[in-house]
Amino acid sequence: MKKTLVRQILEIVGPENFSTDPADLKCYSYDASSISSLPEAIALPGSTEEVSQVLSLANQEGLSVFPRGAGTGTTGASVPINGGLALCLTRMDRIISINPGDLTALVEPGVVTGELQEEVSRHGLFYPPDPASMRFCTIGGNVATGAGGPRAVKYGVTRDYVMALELVLADGSVIHTGTRTAKGVVGYDLTRLVVGSEGMLGVVTRITLKLIPSPEAEGTLIAFFPDAKSASNTVVSLFESRILPRCAEFLDKMSIELISDQLPVVVPERADAMLLIEVDGVRESIPRQLEEVKNSCKNCGATDIHVAKSKDQAKAFWSARQGMAPSIRTLGFPDKINEDICVPRSCLPEMISELEKIGRKNRITILSFGHAGDGNLHVNLLLDLSDREEKLRGEAAVMEVMEATLALGGTISGEHGIGLTKRPFIQMEIDKRGLEIMRGIKKVFDPRNILNPGKVFP
Ligand SMILES: Cc1cc2nc3c(=O)[nH]c(=O)nc-3n(C[C@H](O)[C@H](O)[C@H](O)COP(=O)(O)OP(=O)(O)OC[C@H]3O[C@@H](n4cnc5c(N)ncnc54)[C@H](O)[C@@H]3O)c2cc1C
Repeated sequence: MKKTLVRQILEIVGPENFSTDPADLKCYSYDASSISSLPEAIALPGSTEEVSQVLSLANQEGLSVFPRGAGTGTTGASVPINGGLALCLTRMDRIISINPGDLTALVEPGVVTGELQEEVSRHGLFYPPDPASMRFCTIGGNVATGAGGPRAVKYGVTRDYVMALELVLADGSVIHTGTRTAKGVVGYDLTRLVVGSEGMLGVVTRITLKLIPSPEAEGTLIAFFPDAKSASNTVVSLFESRILPRCAEFLDKMSIELISDQLPVVVPERADAMLLIEVDGVRESIPRQLEEVKNSCKNCGATDIHVAKSKDQAKAFWSARQGMAPSIRTLGFPDKINEDICVPRSCLPEMISELEKIGRKNRITILSFGHAGDGNLHVNLLLDLSDREEKLRGEAAVMEVMEATLALGGTISGEHGIGLTKRPFIQMEIDKRGLEIMRGIKKVFDPRNILNPGKVFP
């Protein structure tokens, strides 16, 4: 990066919010995938105006800019792959307003998702999207990835709560999309286009979010099953019985073993699958809903069912579930390929047996858990990529996972996005013309391709 450019960006954001120190660069070189690459500089702007000035300069100079929230993404989407500038939005972390009358909140992108949820709950309000990373990840990152979470089964994903955006385009111009009204049909829906665009169309600097009133009460249970098929059949049968849980999380045998010492109940000896199910609504409805869920579980073969006796016990169930992804590292496999495929819910039992077959056929350990209520599974292939033969088997298994998903009418990513890791597979799902249109849209927003170049498109 040219010295003059370094000086100009430093002047815009201030010396304390800019660095080219190798130790600092290292901290902004990776996300939760295994990919890392050093930026040439990092800048932490404090306002829309600063973002706009930085982008305007970068655009003139053809400097690549990699927007970044907390760096918890799992696909390398924020990783600065060709040097350039890591533009980290975490300083812009104000909850500007919460409006109970309109049921909206106006926030900056660096707000941590879990902190927003706590804040709105003080007003009796609810922001449902709950990625398992919510104690660290940012709303800006959630918007850019279209993040989901366990509660998506009843309440939808981030996309369903974004009403309006302030967006700084690659040339530094600032646009506003959407409205803060409950309805609005003026022009194309640019808000929906930007959600999930992985930092490639602009930098999000303000977000108007929809809120809903907090449900009065919740009820939580876990159920153990002798096999994965019975658990996935239960999920389908819940919906067939017109029961709408707010979460229905699945854990396979290996996942249960990983978290069993964190669960506040005894795990039965033959527990090959577990469901964590939560319902909510008016207080009086909770016992009836839980009874219906229990019946579905029993009818599908659950051996042990534990209803949380207190809020603390429900919290313990959840904290074990949320610790799932990081604890995989403790299994001792040098590498992990993490896919987050999603199939129509009714195809979940078939998808789970496909995964078992793919693992057996390619001799690859596959650990699966995730948001079964949405048909969304985190499929973790555990292997040693330094072993050439095992790497090839792993790659074949990944390809078969994608093929099986698409054959069942699913999608190769339910919530993590494409970034770098899933780039080779996007053409399997989006046809040539569809990709051409997407590339054309990118060109309109960012003609010089400075924003997050090298991502998403093969
Ligand atoms: C343990 C763990 C559990 C997880 N669980 C879930 C889950 O349940 N559901 C789920 O959906 N994801 C989950 N994730 C993935 C990740 O947390 C989400 O993708 C999250 O939305 C990323 O937010 P972030 O702030 O870390 O963004 P980053 O990782 O920093 O960036 C992600 C993408 O957003 C872009 N970006 C960030 N901020 C902006 C901005 N202001 N403007 C424009 N672009 C921007 C980046 O360029 C990049 O493309 C999990 C990750 C981990 C490590």
